[in-house]
Amino acid sequence: MANVLFTNVRIIDGSGAQPYAGEVLVQGNRILRVGRGARTLPVTGVTVIDGAGATLMPGMCEAHTHLGWTNSKTLDAIQKMPHEEHTLWAASMAKLYLDHGWTSCVGAATPKPRQDCVIRNAINSGQIPGPRYLAASQEITVTGSLGDDMLPHLPFPEMSFGMVVDGQDEMRKAVRMFLKYGVDSIKLNLSGDNLVPGADATTNWMSDEEVAVAAHETKIRGKRLSSHARSTASIKQSVRHGIDVIYHASFADEEALDLLEAKKDRIFVAPGMSVIIRLLWEGEVIGVDNAQAKRMGYERELEACVSSMKAMLKRGIRVLPGGDYGFAWAPHGENAKDLEYFVKYLGMTPLETIVSCTRWGGQMMMQGNELGEIKEGYLADLLLVDGDPLSNIAILQDRKRLLAIMKDGVFHKEPEIRSARTRWSQTAA
Ligand SMILES: [Zn+2]
Repeated sequence: MANVLFTNVRIIDGSGAQPYAGEVLVQGNRILRVGRGARTLPVTGVTVIDGAGATLMPGMCEAHTHLGWTNSKTLDAIQKMPHEEHTLWAASMAKLYLDHGWTSCVGAATPKPRQDCVIRNAINSGQIPGPRYLAASQEITVTGSLGDDMLPHLPFPEMSFGMVVDGQDEMRKAVRMFLKYGVDSIKLNLSGDNLVPGADATTNWMSDEEVAVAAHETKIRGKRLSSHARSTASIKQSVRHGIDVIYHASFADEEALDLLEAKKDRIFVAPGMSVIIRLLWEGEVIGVDNAQAKRMGYERELEACVSSMKAMLKRGIRVLPGGDYGFAWAPHGENAKDLEYFVKYLGMTPLETIVSCTRWGGQMMMQGNELGEIKEGYLADLLLVDGDPLSNIAILQDRKRLLAIMKDGVFHKEPEIRSARTRWSQTAA
């Protein structure tokens, strides 16, 4: 782990402050010094990266990641990949996310019970490259709702990408099993989803008794809950039971907004806009044209989602990008499209979207005091970007524009500009 000085860079530090020209000195896995202007920091004993005016920003956090989703056209196809291939697939996706500048990912559900934990552990031990990762359980669901693809004659529990439970006893057993495997969070499917016939996004499926058991078991082990909650009632149910990570939250009414605002210091919302927008406008890839997508409820849900997210942002609730990439209509790797959606649909400025995927991302990773900003003492997760994402947020979708990717003080991608423009200091400190 070398000491690295990024010089001649334009720093977007992730705090929401306007960018400035400066230098950043990395020592080990942390940011040791941040300087404004040129040649303010020492250059002895360090590798100097002359950014030639490129943007230096914190690594990004994907708030709703499914490394095990297989870019399939349907939900049930996720689970058809055999265990061995599926593990290798998830490992390659972990690398892909890092290749695209996502240095942190929040696991939002895994298709095989232990897959997320195995991948997280392999990343942390250095066995495979990947982002900082919080491992999730399978989506825990109830009979008939999103995540239940089980055919009656096939055995519990693995035929569906979700884990199907009914009643408090089955819920308790499932949650304890995932906690035993070592997950960081338990995912509950509270509402339905427009992809599921007979269980659309406005419907509610899990009983308060079932949710309460899951919440109790998870919290006494010090772990976190997340929810798939598109409907109004499911958003309120999430807050009532102390669920910190709420996915989708499309149909938030005034009461739901009030509840969220009251807990805004601990709640994170990730709308996962890609599913709605892509199916509405680009669904042909799976044979869904615009008329059918409207019949499935996606036009209505997009309207609701946009107004809900705008209202949340106004109330200071943290809304983060990412979500449900890994389908044929929105394959893995295109996740930064969400930043463009935030600007285009939610009216956020590019600077605000960068805060949402960096500063708020560090907070969502439960490392808000050391991750997600370019700040002295913080972990060195950094992206050197060719161009200005504030004038065009879409450049973050192009991995070729990521000149360097550093995670924990180590280059995942070394800058090619080093050979041309870098001065190497031979002087030992
Ligand atoms: Zn999801």
